[in-house]
Amino acid sequence: MVNQIVCADAGMDCDFVVRSDSDDELVRMARMHGEHRHNVDMDEAGVRELIKPAG
Ligand SMILES: [Zn+2]
Repeated sequence: MVNQIVCADAGMDCDFVVRSDSDDELVRMARMHGEHRHNVDMDEAGVRELIKPAG
């Protein structure tokens, strides 16, 4: 199953979306995005709460 993380769900004014069939990959990509784009160090548990089914 493909899941996604939508950056706007974290309260950001941002249209970044990452999709993957690996939750670990999703968390890794989303945290990298947050750090590089928003200068926010999101904790892993918080990022995992943003995971939802894609589509
Ligand atoms: Zn973003």
